[in-house]
Amino acid sequence: MIDKFGRKIDYLRISVTENCNLKCIYCIDENTIVNSSNDKLLSDDEICKIARECAHLGIRKIRITGGEPLVRKNIENLVGKLNSIDGIEEMYITTNGVLLHDKLETFKSNGLSGVNISLDSLDRDRFKKLTRFDKLRDVLSSIDKALELGLKVKINTVIVDDINKDEIIDFVNLSKYKNLQIRFIELMPIGEGKKHKGTSNEEILNIIKENFENIQVENRNERSGPASYIKIDNFKGKVGFISPMSSCFCEDCNRIRLTSQGFLKKCLHYNYGVDLKKHLRNNISDGDLNKLIYDNIYDKPEKHLFMESCDNKENKCMNQIGG
Ligand code: SAM
Repeated sequence: MIDKFGRKIDYLRISVTENCNLKCIYCIDENTIVNSSNDKLLSDDEICKIARECAHLGIRKIRITGGEPLVRKNIENLVGKLNSIDGIEEMYITTNGVLLHDKLETFKSNGLSGVNISLDSLDRDRFKKLTRFDKLRDVLSSIDKALELGLKVKINTVIVDDINKDEIIDFVNLSKYKNLQIRFIELMPIGEGKKHKGTSNEEILNIIKENFENIQVENRNERSGPASYIKIDNFKGKVGFISPMSSCFCEDCNRIRLTSQGFLKKCLHYNYGVDLKKHLRNNISDGDLNKLIYDNIYDKPEKHLFMESCDNKENKCMNQIGG
């Protein structure tokens, strides 16, 4: 469907839990205990009901995220159920990859098209420091298995000035022999992110240009999403940049977000939207649910204002919003 600024909204991001099996230092405070009891979370049936109405309204692509989506029970089944909804053409998952390896085959047969795997260090000790868990090996084996199975693989990397800036070239080199995308995502002032200084994508691109020759900038197209891409000669994969801080891509925004607690968010940056769980549990009719979702999508804000102070700013961390 088209929102009031003329944008085509066809992408739904569904968070399925706030829990995570890692605690990245720029995301969640070490002492945070996430304890979302099951009845606070949307059930699989409730998620599918909302997704069905969203599909009626023109949603074609779904991404499952969290927290860490793979800690949710029977997540493979949920992917299958969502994938079988009429109108849904593409299903993806965003994960830290720790629990992914053994679930990949089922995910693939249940219709998953690809995985985005978050990874901020290729060094075991640093990975442990950054995520507070010694799990790098599990993540790397998940990446290789996903590629073996022919799934689309994107690696999402956040570069923080005093933590992993010296690994930019190592990350780019991952795309030399592997057919995957490395995407640098700028750190946003959300959750613990407020306490760190992210490296801008402009600076990252300059570092890449100093180290590689024959770089082509790819033209953006409808399928690029918020990323812009470069390709380095003879590299199998490519490198992308998602720059919410340095270049706002809100005019092309095509997404809405459903939190694990059933709140439909119009934009990452603001706290407003609608509590669909409350309405579902009060037995809202399908028609009224459809209308509520329509009204909220239609009314998406024009743009985020990370750099300015404003009312209704989102105060939740990424694991609560669905990163
Ligand atoms: N657990 C899954 C994962 O690791 O991909 C999904 C949720 S996680 C919150 C999603 C993404 O949000 C990760 O790539 C993480 O790096 C990113 N993230 C968390 N806090 C962020 C922040 N303040 N700014 C930018 N990205 C952030």
